[in-house]
This record gives sequence, structure tokens and C-alpha cells, in this order.
Amino acid sequence: MICGFRTTPWSARRARASSTRWATFDRSRPEIGAIATGVAQRALDECLRYSRSRSAFGQPIASFQAIQFMLAEYGQSVSRRCACLTYKAAWMVESRETPNAISSYAKLFGSDACMKITTDAVQIFGGYGYMKEYPVEKLMRDAKLLQIYEGTSQIQHVGHRARSAEGLTARGPPHESATGR
Ligand SMILES: Cc1cc2nc3c(=O)[nH]c(=O)nc-3n(C[C@H](O)[C@H](O)[C@H](O)COP(=O)(O)OP(=O)(O)OC[C@H]3O[C@@H](n4cnc5c(N)ncnc54)[C@H](O)[C@@H]3O)c2cc1C
Repeated sequence: MICGFRTTPWSARRARASSTRWATFDRSRPEIGAIATGVAQRALDECLRYSRSRSAFGQPIASFQAIQFMLAEYGQSVSRRCACLTYKAAWMVESRETPNAISSYAKLFGSDACMKITTDAVQIFGGYGYMKEYPVEKLMRDAKLLQIYEGTSQIQHVGHRARSAEGLTARGPPHESATGR
């Protein structure tokens, strides 16, 4: 009691704040996975279009195997890795499960894949890719943001390491040992 008011112990308030924070991340990180999937898909679409219209050495650059391999790999990355993890995390949120680790994976793998794909998209566009007049420069900058906010990629790794050290499953309760940002 302070001045006639009943107070909640500090430790209880801290525990409640921590649980609210993690519940928020469980729901917000899949959104980052979804944005990453969309940005990566857009980069892929732009690359497909551009590589068919841009010619070098007398043929469209899309006919070069080096370019084809990149595009094929990115198609798989977007549809398998980014989208699947994001759907799984979203499904767990809807089912009122605790998707702590899966939400984090959706953000980490989604944003890292998006960064790789958009950086290579700039490469495929060559000098034009570096210019603001072409779309992929903005996509690459957007991808970088996805690796930074809602907990940087490094912080997601710290969380995964903590979970592994504690022997927790992908769904396990988590998290006090990892920093939140
Ligand atoms: C465009 C934009 C929009 C944003 N919007 C919001 C918002 O709406 N709300 C909000 O709250 N914040 C927002 N942020 C802030 C964002 O969440 C922080 O920038 C982010 O959490 C990183 O914190 P920091 O900048 O203080 O970097 P720092 O914490 O100083 O980190 C610097 C570097 O050290 C690494 N690092 C830090 N701690 C560890 C560790 N323990 N182990 C390993 N590596 C570590 C980081 O990964 C990073 O590489 C936004 C940022 C940007 C760029």
C-alpha cells in the first residue's frame, strides 16, 4: 500500500509487461515475414521482366544460365521458405497457439532471403539497378529495414541460440533470456 493505494509488486508488473511484449512480437513478426515475401516476389517479377527485355552479347540476359539459376533459386526461396514460414506463424496465431519461435523464423528467414534477392536484383539490373529511377534500388532499401526493425536479425539469432540452449521446442515458452528488440 502506498498512500492508500494498493500496488502491484514490481516483479509482477515486469512479468506482465514482458508477456505483453512477447505476445506482440508473436503477432507482428509474421507480418514482417509477409512483407518480406511480397517485396522479394516483386523483385523477382521485376527481374523476370527486365531480363527478358535487356540484351547483351546479342541475346536477352534471361538466356544466360547464370541469370536463370539465380531466378530459379529465388522463386523457390520466396514460395517455400518465406511464404511457408509466414503462413505457419499466421496459422498458429489464428489457432491461439504460441508461435514465438516460428514467428521469429518467419521474420529472420523472410527478411534475410528478401535482402539477398533484392541485392541480386540490383545486380541483374546492372548499372540501372543502382538508380532511383528503377524499382529495385527501393526494394533493396526496404529489405534492409526488414532486417532491422521488430528485432534485428542478430537478435533473432540470439533468441534461437537461447531456445536451443534451454532445449525448448519451436513452440516452447521462450524467451526471457533473449533481448526483445
Ligand atoms: C525505418 C525504421 C523504422 C522503425 N520503426 C520503429 C517503430 O515503429 N517502433 C520502434 O519501436 N522502433 C522502430 N525502429 C527502431 C528499430 O526497432 C531499431 O533501430 C532496432 O531495434 C535496432 O536498434 P538500434 O538502432 O538501437 O541498434 P542497436 O541495438 O544499437 O544495434 C546495433 C547493432 O548491434 C547488434 N546487436 C545489438 N544487440 C545485440 C546482441 N545482444 N547480440 C548481437 N548483436 C546485437 C544489432 O543487431 C545491430 O546490428 C525503426 C527503425 C527504422 C530504421
